[in-house]
Amino acid sequence: MSIAFPLAQHAMETTPAGARLEMESVSKRYGEIVALDPLTLDVDPGTFLSVLGPSGSGKTTVLRLIGGFTAPSSGRIRLGGQDITDLPIFQRPSNTVFQDYALFPHLSVAANVGYGLSVRGRPAGEIKHKVEEILAVVGLETMAGRAPAQLSGGQRQRVALARALICEPKIMLLDEPLAALDAELRRQMQDFLKSQQRRTGITFLFVTHDQQEAIGVSDLILVMQKGRVEQVASPRELYYRPKTLFVAGFFGENNLLPGRVVAVSGTAAQIETAMGRFKAENPHGCKVGDQASLAIRPETVELSPATGGLAGTVTDISFRGSATCVTADIGGRGRLLSIGPSDRHEPNWQPGQAIRLGWPETAALLVPY
Ligand code: ADP
Ligand code: MG
Repeated sequence: MSIAFPLAQHAMETTPAGARLEMESVSKRYGEIVALDPLTLDVDPGTFLSVLGPSGSGKTTVLRLIGGFTAPSSGRIRLGGQDITDLPIFQRPSNTVFQDYALFPHLSVAANVGYGLSVRGRPAGEIKHKVEEILAVVGLETMAGRAPAQLSGGQRQRVALARALICEPKIMLLDEPLAALDAELRRQMQDFLKSQQRRTGITFLFVTHDQQEAIGVSDLILVMQKGRVEQVASPRELYYRPKTLFVAGFFGENNLLPGRVVAVSGTAAQIETAMGRFKAENPHGCKVGDQASLAIRPETVELSPATGGLAGTVTDISFRGSATCVTADIGGRGRLLSIGPSDRHEPNWQPGQAIRLGWPETAALLVPY
């Protein structure tokens, strides 16, 4: 199945339509439960911000606080400089798209999309024109007269998006809007969401529990765990410079070797681990004596038959299509994973084979405990 989405019709204007989002020590408790520890955040207008974390980590809470569906226990929220903390939902310059679409089943696609403008009392002619325009943008111009029940999941989600976009919000709040879609459609909708965000320049706050999805669409990702923010950074920075063990293990695979920092000089350091002493980058300022982990991405671990590096024994080879993973035991002191392109990685190694493992010094990183 293939669905063609129209390309952006207008280039983004020089001043983004979206607003700056500022959260100042915003927290939320439900009795004893801390849903959100104090969160401070300052996001540029027109940013595609994802809130990423496992189930129950507080993602929806962040979205609900900004949308006004729930009140914070402490802190202030500002949009475009305006304090919205005490504004009711309908006065906030935000629109929300939920996973379950929440379309009106008895209204046509066109009436669903025009709903927000109708309740604002816009003239019928203007509504008709804008609905036609936005339906063309989301590729549903031929579906205007249908009922939601006559649409596929992906089409319904595009109606929900059109219904929110037509109101020209300063910020779009999207709570796992693609979670109900199958993999291929989901990937297409990711591209579509991204193109709509770029087209409009609206600030997007996109909740997801899927790391690959967040990496693919975001300018900035807020990683959450247990109501706390672990790190706020670009996808690249989260991947190459994780600040916590959780982030280091959450994005892709990682070799994580616990140890103690034994030397620091400038941005480099040395760490003593069960597998030996290694040099590493130290971007987060670990100090001598600190506990830390050495993080080495498996795609940087090179294998060779005989010379240099660490001695190991191949324990497992797992084919994953384009990539193959080789696991090696390092003299009973731990295991290292190496991932490489299958065409050159898979044929060379056998379980039980003695090998040597190495990585570029700049690919090893200290992650604080
Ligand atoms: P996520 O969206 O990441 O799955 P939520 O923000 O929905 O997480 O929830 C964070 C935490 O707050 C969870 O422990 C959840 O059980 C709790 N929580 C959320 N809403 C309520 C509520 N209305 N009453 C009590 N606890 C809540
Ligand atoms: Mg949620």
